[in-house]
Amino acid sequence: MGWETIIKSLRDPIVPNLLDYTQAQAAFSWKQARRELEGLPCGAGINIAHEAVDRHATGPLRNHLAMRWLGKSGRIENYTFAELQTLTNRFANVLRSLDVAKGDRVYVLAGRIPELYVTAFGTLKNRSVLCPLFSAFGPEPIRARMALGQAKVLITTESLYQRKVSKLRPALPSLKHVLLIGDEEQRTCAPGTMDLHRLMEDASKQFTIEPTDPEDVALLHFTSGTTGTPKGAVHVHEAVVAHHITGKLALDFHSNDIFWCTADPGWVTGTSYGIIAPLTNGITSIVDEGEFDAERWYAILQDQKVSVWYTAPTAIRMMMKVGAQLAHKYHLSALRFLASVGEPLNPEAVVWGQETFGRPFHDNWWQTETGGIMIANYAAMDVRPGSMGRPVPGIEAAIVRKTEEGKVEIIEQPDTQGELALRAGWPSMFRNYWNEPERYKKCFAGGFYLTGDIAKRDKDGYFWFVGRKDDVIKSSGHLIGPFEVESTLMEHQAVAEAGVIGKPDPVAMEVVKAFVSLKDGYTVSEALRRELLAFARVRLGPVVAPKEIEFRPKLPRTRSGKIMRRLLKAEELGLPTGDTSTLEDG
Ligand code: ATP
Ligand code: MG
Repeated sequence: MGWETIIKSLRDPIVPNLLDYTQAQAAFSWKQARRELEGLPCGAGINIAHEAVDRHATGPLRNHLAMRWLGKSGRIENYTFAELQTLTNRFANVLRSLDVAKGDRVYVLAGRIPELYVTAFGTLKNRSVLCPLFSAFGPEPIRARMALGQAKVLITTESLYQRKVSKLRPALPSLKHVLLIGDEEQRTCAPGTMDLHRLMEDASKQFTIEPTDPEDVALLHFTSGTTGTPKGAVHVHEAVVAHHITGKLALDFHSNDIFWCTADPGWVTGTSYGIIAPLTNGITSIVDEGEFDAERWYAILQDQKVSVWYTAPTAIRMMMKVGAQLAHKYHLSALRFLASVGEPLNPEAVVWGQETFGRPFHDNWWQTETGGIMIANYAAMDVRPGSMGRPVPGIEAAIVRKTEEGKVEIIEQPDTQGELALRAGWPSMFRNYWNEPERYKKCFAGGFYLTGDIAKRDKDGYFWFVGRKDDVIKSSGHLIGPFEVESTLMEHQAVAEAGVIGKPDPVAMEVVKAFVSLKDGYTVSEALRRELLAFARVRLGPVVAPKEIEFRPKLPRTRSGKIMRRLLKAEELGLPTGDTSTLEDG
């Protein structure tokens, strides 16, 4: 498909929130966006939990369904905005009664269970700092992240505590309280832990949020660890302005939407869009406790009448692997907007969305550090498959290069590779790396935040991802982006996934090597390897095409689903694998 555009079907009955991109860009101001929110009463600042929960709980949406939770084994729980308010008030009172203060770090280590969402908002109400952790982390990554952020409170389940945390207690002197949640049959409450359900029962359901400065720290979020040791990005309450407005403009939230974000809150998408943005916009958010399973997912889309669906390339590729026939067994007529984030979305996947759901996937780009969506394909505009789209109104994105004197120079020439940079100062921009101020400072130059990603901008202002700075391959004087090579390989019918690295070469400096996993029904053979090499060579030319292909049953991925090219490279070169704390099966 390459550069062709997909013309959107004209049957959309809903008028997109962002209709005219140029006009929206010109008219937008963050001040105006802030006015869409309420702020705390009497000008007492802004608090994420007030915007997401309390203001709806005391308004016309009081009895509207805020969250529907789908348990792994079929149980369903519904929470209205009013019910969420009561529960989060109770939890905020629990924290207060335990002397947990403004700025103290509250960690949550749990699967996607309702208490995670309740404790998240309760923590924000108490002006403590929320730090969600992946429940699948092993003890060492848990210890490292809790020690770095000096966790005061941990909320977790009894079994996770027993398996992963209890032995770490001596190494975590700042950890004062462990509060147990979940519905395990027997709660023994090991020494040093408390039963949160009991504490909640005793807590008052009235809570008034204290004045919250927009710059008060709200969230500590660790990056995915794709390129190295995860960093702790610090976000403030003001970020909610960006969460809210990007939900409206980039995900096109409308009042009756049923929204499903498939990401886990252990990754920033699962917080900004799995917890906060749908609720600030007053819509219903679906939370599924289960792990990926194609049939389960189609059934959720159908049964819950999901209208806006936000997922990730890795999940889309897994669905593609199973095949479109399965999708056609379900009635997915409620689905009107599909979006994807986290990794480059191969053009093949965009087209597959169109063929399978009658709608393309809308790719968008952002990072833990940016706190919210920065570049997006919008509902009203044609999707350019393979492009991340255009900057969200209020965001100035540029392609830059650093001069020898360390100055930042904007590259105006279209279609030229350089580092993707964002003009600093949007509300959800991270305010620091926890305990690493020097590292933070290094990310900024000439008024820009430098993202560490290499991209291009075309003449129409669409951004195209090339690769991460560390992953770009230098071969015979050319700069090759792994994404382009991977996307081409994926156009072959047998390929499910591809990961591409630069392999050192005495002549070319580096040559392109691809790791490939196959779709169900295809088997590894020398003939297929040669066929793929030839297939890529015809499409990409001899310089860019891989010189080597290695088949793997599965590619190494982070728990948030990103291919870990640095691991493929380390293995290839026989080097140490570095920090693998976020590796899926690590
Ligand atoms: P770490 O910084 O620890 O190496 P990470 O960068 O993967 O991990 P995240 O903040 O979760 O951590 O991911 C942001 C990165 O994911 C982006 O910098 C980019 O490389 C990639 N990414 C996200 N969305 C897209 C997209 N739509 N297209 C291409 N790449 C994307
Ligand atoms: Mg990163």
